[in-house]
Amino acid sequence: MSAARPPEVARTSLGARALDRLRAVFGYPEFRGEQAAIIEHVAGGGDALVLMPTGGGKSLCYQIPSLLREGVGVVVSPLIALMQDQVDALAAVGVRAACLNSQLSAAQASAVEARVRAGELDLVYVAPERLLTERCLALLTQSPIALFAIDEAHCVSQWGHDFRPEYAMLSVLHERFPTAPRIALTATADPATRAEIVTALALDDAQVFVSSFDRPNITYRIVDRGEARRQLVDFIAQRHAGSSGIVYCLSRAKVEQVAAHLNDAGVRALPYHAGMANAERADNQQRFLREDGLVMVATIAFGMGIDKPDVRFVAHLDMPRSIEGYYQETGRAGRDGEPAEAWMAYGLSDVVQQRRMIEQSEASEAHRRVSGAKLDAMLGLAETAGCRRARLLAYFGEEHPADWRCGNCDNCLEPPATFDATVEVQKLLSCIYRTGQRFGAQYLVNVLRGKGDERIGRFGHDRLGVFGVGADVDERQWRAVIRQCIAMDLLDVDFEAFGALRLAPAARPVLRGEQEVHLRRIAAKPARSRRKGREAAGEHPVDDATASLAPADAALFEQLRAWRLEVSRERGVPPYVVFHDRTLRAIAQARPADAQALATIPGLGEKKRADWGEALLRIVAAAQ
Ligand code: ADP
Ligand code: ZN
Repeated sequence: MSAARPPEVARTSLGARALDRLRAVFGYPEFRGEQAAIIEHVAGGGDALVLMPTGGGKSLCYQIPSLLREGVGVVVSPLIALMQDQVDALAAVGVRAACLNSQLSAAQASAVEARVRAGELDLVYVAPERLLTERCLALLTQSPIALFAIDEAHCVSQWGHDFRPEYAMLSVLHERFPTAPRIALTATADPATRAEIVTALALDDAQVFVSSFDRPNITYRIVDRGEARRQLVDFIAQRHAGSSGIVYCLSRAKVEQVAAHLNDAGVRALPYHAGMANAERADNQQRFLREDGLVMVATIAFGMGIDKPDVRFVAHLDMPRSIEGYYQETGRAGRDGEPAEAWMAYGLSDVVQQRRMIEQSEASEAHRRVSGAKLDAMLGLAETAGCRRARLLAYFGEEHPADWRCGNCDNCLEPPATFDATVEVQKLLSCIYRTGQRFGAQYLVNVLRGKGDERIGRFGHDRLGVFGVGADVDERQWRAVIRQCIAMDLLDVDFEAFGALRLAPAARPVLRGEQEVHLRRIAAKPARSRRKGREAAGEHPVDDATASLAPADAALFEQLRAWRLEVSRERGVPPYVVFHDRTLRAIAQARPADAQALATIPGLGEKKRADWGEALLRIVAAAQ
């Protein structure tokens, strides 16, 4: 590819040459964010550490320098399952790429090695354990090397859950190939991991490029959990019909139930969890990647290596244990930069369950304290009446002014009502106190609402002054009050006593009337299916692929999609390797009539225009 470069381009500056490759090969008009600076630095021979969120566009940061420099770009990646897709995607734009991993036969591997030695490849993807073999290092010593890219560099971290021991040995690259530039990339934000990467990979002299971890195309929504499965079906049907999405649940049993429920409700869904047979699990993952519009219902076992760019929503039916987890899981939505949604239904039982898990774990005291603090931060995010994005980013050290509003989270789009709940909270606190701090939420709500039962009668709690004092507040609102009191540390949960609620020290001033409490009022009823739910609620139009299209364009888009599916089947690659939705949508809207018009469509580089330009023009012409 680089050989075909016309001489006048070769004479221009590195930056101009990079932009030329971006346009001609990848078909994108401009670089995003830090890309241009990173590419120029690495193409010029410098080392780099790149911290960029998922979907930020890390791949181009080493792909384009590999095209610009002499020799092959060696990409170290732990995700063997994805290498082939990446190689296919590069082949589709005319970049000469191959991979070296344990899935190749000896003959296939030898063929790739010969191409590396002959300088016939722009990029080679290598699994770390393979790279570290003497055979592979010897091969690379004999070959011209453009650069080393260490993808998913957080895998060096001993403390992260993706730890890969071979990553810790990659400093050998620096020793054996001191002149080849190295670029390490990760979407993990925290400073501790960053420091570990620098040390482990001997990147002390690398320039560090930190992007904002904001994912502006993701809308965050956290709703009060009622009938969770119905809420989920409504959410998908109203906002993401026909789209790909991921639904996370905590347990295997729940994964199975929810997947079955979605299928019954007409949403095509597949289960994925560690208890399934390997073959079936791999099969479901493959289908999710290759078919349009499937929903994967999964435990968090599903994630690492989900590179599918067009996941339109990530839904949580159970609250993650930390903001890191929430950010990572929701981050699998919208890698293609198109609008996507992170939706979570959460309730009191999440709080109780998660606190219990921490309390009863075998971990050290210090570890439990850290887990508790992480859970509290997650709870704070779920309960906040302020901007969710501001909270999320603040957790990763990106501060915004207190009144900053992102305009693309539920609390910004439909600001929640807050109310002076001092009296309600006092009623709750005294109910807990009067009943002896021995009962859980349901019992307390029944006493407050004056709903006597056999147990309440047996303890004589129907004769207390607090019995029925809260009849004017409905049960869901009471549960929300309790949840918020737990999140605010007014209440402790006693797990030895089966989740009994007790007054925490911070409850005293409230009980004594020295401190007011303001809480979020929840909607009286969970949002019901309304056919025109989105418009009625005045919500941000986030939806499946055709939402933003006029009806005639939507019809053309669907035709293009059907054509894409055929092509992808013939080639044995996922549809998004052929074209992203965004490209098809741009074609449906612009309706290019000739090759020149086609060249203005984003995502259509020279190779794809040569391969598929005519077919696309024919489909567009037929639709006029
Ligand atoms: P990451 O590895 O950071 O998660 P990718 O490299 O997979 O992200 O890129 C995410 C998506 O953004 C891809 O679909 C890619 O084609 C697209 N993309 C990257 N850079 C640009 C750009 N400059 N213009 C348009 N699209 C881009
Ligand atoms: Zn917001």
